Amino acid sequence: MSIWPRQRDCDAFYGNPRSNDPTQAAASWKKANLVRVGQLPFVMRYAGQPVTSVVCHRKVADAFRSVLDGVWRRSGCDQRVVDDWGMSVFSGSYNYRLMRGLNVLSMHSYGCAFDFDAPRNALHDRTPHFAQCPEVLAAWKQAGAVWGSDWNGNGSAADEPRADGMHFQFATL
Ligand SMILES: [Zn+2]
Repeated sequence: MSIWPRQRDCDAFYGNPRSNDPTQAAASWKKANLVRVGQLPFVMRYAGQPVTSVVCHRKVADAFRSVLDGVWRRSGCDQRVVDDWGMSVFSGSYNYRLMRGLNVLSMHSYGCAFDFDAPRNALHDRTPHFAQCPEVLAAWKQAGAVWGSDWNGNGSAADEPRADGMHFQFATL
């Protein structure tokens, strides 16, 4: 039993971020729920630029920090190891987006999803780099996150029809 909600229950758990404008989250929801996780344990970059904090939902902030701390500990506190794993390559977190004109929101719209190392973990790639980084996957799993290349939770990226290897989320299917 996960402490995290199912995707369909995210409105109840994380709050409903929708506004009358399909391109924007409600300002009141953002103010009440989005926080910045700072004092990151290792150097992270987004598109080559240093990242000093990551925006996410307040309910996942501690869990996300525990993932970063877990990765750092498992690396032996070695930036080069974290670089090799790809966890220093931040590829996005909170991003408000309705899917295909429907009322369905991407998990990134709730601030409960995180992408890392998109270049080496592309959408539909069934042999993503993270599959070779059990320490990274263990850190996420310990926090109860679901990996986008193992939606069915069988430990293999090879059988996933919509593999999204860069993606981790605090919500189950
Ligand atoms: Zn994602």
